[in-house]
Amino acid sequence: MTAQIIDGKVFAARVRGQVAQGVTKLKARGITPGLAVVLVGDDPASEVYVRNKGRQTIEVGMASFEHRLSADTSEADLLALVKRLNADPAVHGILVQLPLPKHLNADLVINAIDPAKDVDGFHILNVGLLGTGQKAMVPCTPLGCLMMLRDQLGRLEGLNAVVVGRSNIVGKPMAQLLLGESCTVTIAHSRTRNLADVCRGADILVAAVGRPEMIPGDWIKPGATVIDVGINRVDAGAGKTRLVGDVQFETAVKVAGAITPVPGGVGPMTIACLLANTLTACCRAHDLPEPE
Ligand code: NDP
Repeated sequence: MTAQIIDGKVFAARVRGQVAQGVTKLKARGITPGLAVVLVGDDPASEVYVRNKGRQTIEVGMASFEHRLSADTSEADLLALVKRLNADPAVHGILVQLPLPKHLNADLVINAIDPAKDVDGFHILNVGLLGTGQKAMVPCTPLGCLMMLRDQLGRLEGLNAVVVGRSNIVGKPMAQLLLGESCTVTIAHSRTRNLADVCRGADILVAAVGRPEMIPGDWIKPGATVIDVGINRVDAGAGKTRLVGDVQFETAVKVAGAITPVPGGVGPMTIACLLANTLTACCRAHDLPEPE
């Protein structure tokens, strides 16, 4: 048996197409959704993400505002920029690219963003809304994972879901979303005992660890749906590198029912969901019906 490969590129293109249609409708009313991205410093991976976000924002017809600040920017200056963006009616979504340089308090900065414009869903208010099952801005990566799971499996009710990783940006919100779908959810992390056995019980296995190919095929229940969030750059010999996930794809694909590849799985969905969240924020700001 070979697992079905869940094509995140195709799925993300479909989501972006729907967002573009929503943008066209808003523009017909004289409203252009706008996304502001703030990058502090020159982390090379963040540079790539920010460039891709800007390009795709423009491709769906939105306005893109990029703010690049030097690595030694003070907290006061960054907070002042966030305040300006909060007050700017042309900006419907604000994203501060993480990680921030060490001298800046990321929690303080994120919580300074107007929750209605917090398209990353990291503001404490949105975290609380999600945790209590209320309408929230949902973090983009787990939202993309959930969309793919729903598309693959339909109703998720009653399924055993194991999320490996408990970060605030992926693991915890992923677990909340799955709980919201009435899955039986286990959150595993670096202190979990018998992780292999925990994983073997999963109908849905979401890996968000950041350790290359940590989860082999024999940790996977036959027929399970595997979502691999990990993005790890490893040595490919001859001075080259390649990207791998947290799951050992070659062995997992022989056991799973369906699996996301790395690259081309969860990654493309993240930006597509960011755009979808910006469209939603714009509709809410203008008291218009939200896209489905
Ligand atoms: P973090 O480093 O914040 O969290 C990693 C989690 O994995 C922690 O909860 C940690 O446990 C757990 N962990 C570490 N080692 C083990 C282990 N040996 N066994 C079990 N659990 C372990 O990472 P992120 O959540 O930010 O990211 C996870 C991965 O997802 C990374 O590869 C990242 O690049 C990728 N990513 C991909 C995105 C995309 O768009 N596709 C977006 C965001 C992230 P503990 O809490 O106990 O330390």
